[in-house]
Amino acid sequence: MKGRRLYLDGVSVVFDGFRALNNLALVVEPGEMRAVIGPNGAGKTTMMDVITGKTRPTAGIATFGDSDLTRMDEAAIANLGIGRKFQKPTVFDALTVFENLELALKAPRGPIACLRWILSGEGRTRVEEVMTETGLTDRAQDPAGILSHGQRQWLEIGMLMMQDPELLLVDEPVAGMTDAETEHTAALLARIAGKHSVVVVEHDLEFVRALGCRVTVLHEGSVLSEGSIDHVQNDPRVVEVYLGR
Ligand code: ADP
Repeated sequence: MKGRRLYLDGVSVVFDGFRALNNLALVVEPGEMRAVIGPNGAGKTTMMDVITGKTRPTAGIATFGDSDLTRMDEAAIANLGIGRKFQKPTVFDALTVFENLELALKAPRGPIACLRWILSGEGRTRVEEVMTETGLTDRAQDPAGILSHGQRQWLEIGMLMMQDPELLLVDEPVAGMTDAETEHTAALLARIAGKHSVVVVEHDLEFVRALGCRVTVLHEGSVLSEGSIDHVQNDPRVVEVYLGR
């Protein structure tokens, strides 16, 4: 797949003398899905904050394609095509599923291009595609406020997809979900990957296994282990600091 690679190397973030990230390296290829796991305080959120420009690293390289993320603000990074879904969904309860997705749509720039696009119905087609991809077609006309916890999370992933980001960052998507919802989320993210690159931060190891992707284990701000879920689960260092707790 054509596209840009996410590249972090030697990234450190120091808060008041405390190293939240310590010489972190991470490479995510175009279209790849990567799961990032690690105990509380390992640096997962700080890593996401560096990628989205919320936190500036004290040292190191962070690039997406040719763009230097350490020199850009959050809006410029979002415009590059990097979208983030936080743990708590931020959907509009009073609006229907369809309307929430429609609102999230990124219209083409310029009045003529935008008008042509509205008249052609392309926006509507895209909403319908995303409802199919997220499994929300049956709920199109329901207000978001009556959706289940899982459906709200899928709606928000859908809203992110409406922006057509090249890289999606997803923070603990299955926290609080039922087993069936967790399975649906794994299938949804697997469908998205390939077309987009995806970085998923997650605690639930069964879910990470279902994703079937490469796993990076963080500990004290650095990469402790990386590879398949079987590789990292059997790595004695991981067992000691994370799984063996
Ligand atoms: P995780 O997401 O893996 O739980 P975080 O990235 O949130 O880890 O945090 C890594 C470490 O950095 C934690 O010990 C946390 O207390 C610390 N930390 C995070 N943000 C700040 C901040 N703004 N100021 C001081 N310390 C912080």
